[in-house]
Amino acid sequence: MNSGHILLLGMGGTIAGVAMDRAKPMAYQAGAIPVSGLVQDLELDEDFGEIEAVQVANVDSRHMTEELLIQLGWAVKDGLERPDIVGIVVTHGTDTMEETGIFLHATLGKLASHYKKAVILTGAMLPANADHADGPSNLRAALYLAKEAKQTEQFGILAVMAGKLCLARELSKQHTHALDALVVNAHEIDGPIHKRQADLSLPGQAQWPWVEVVTSHGGASGKLVDWLVSEHVDGIVVAGTGQGSIHGRLADALIKAAELGIPVVRSSRTGAGAVFSEISEPDSARNWLSARDLSPPKARIALQLAILEANSRKTDDWQSIFATI
Ligand code: ASP
Repeated sequence: MNSGHILLLGMGGTIAGVAMDRAKPMAYQAGAIPVSGLVQDLELDEDFGEIEAVQVANVDSRHMTEELLIQLGWAVKDGLERPDIVGIVVTHGTDTMEETGIFLHATLGKLASHYKKAVILTGAMLPANADHADGPSNLRAALYLAKEAKQTEQFGILAVMAGKLCLARELSKQHTHALDALVVNAHEIDGPIHKRQADLSLPGQAQWPWVEVVTSHGGASGKLVDWLVSEHVDGIVVAGTGQGSIHGRLADALIKAAELGIPVVRSSRTGAGAVFSEISEPDSARNWLSARDLSPPKARIALQLAILEANSRKTDDWQSIFATI
């Protein structure tokens, strides 16, 4: 098995977390153990080969920043381009793993397929010193999947949690504490993965567009949107009810925002399923776009990347770029 080695990039999270009291594993500090420490006691085959552990960050992923996404993106790109690396594993907090997943998918998914390598995101719902900690088995699975990607043809930006492998684009955290909280609704991968058509540019600077998520609900108003517009927001994702339906007062404010040229993307707060154009709201007449199967936080990152790409291509057509993600 030993041909080429694995790059292990640590971002922190519960997988690197420590509970102060093992009997109370829900009270812990995330990002306490260095990523090199996570592999020390893993049971791997003797000929598994070298694991090059690099600490990109060691944070609770609620504190992720655009700067950290950029650092991670360039570290992944470097690993994909190095001939001595056969695959990459990223350990990450589960709270925002879906945002990092869509970011890597949109910017490096094609490159990963080009080099026939897998980038596997994984994490844990229980801290490292909890009884039945899930981190070691998730990490072990990720390392083997990354190592064997060429043979299995399962390359691209993927994620594994609780024994389920999926496209990182399909992750979304949908439970507060279940061990399969992230993959509960994702399609499991059981065969080769098709190539992504094109990558968006990997941002090289931290000046990302300001995009906010607003939620629709009974009794909603348009005040928050009006304020965002007055503060020159660059884009708005609305987390609608059901199939992306939006309260009339909020919709009126979003129509005005779109008339001023502010990108508006309509998603659903339900946590699963998809929002399709023209179903429940007339998107094209209002110059809005539907998020399809992207959750509100994923749609937010996708919209930031689409606006960045549109700016760099000097076009206003962020919609057709968003549609490729
Ligand atoms: N708060 C943690 C984090 O996202 C949760 C986890 O990793 O499961 O870093």
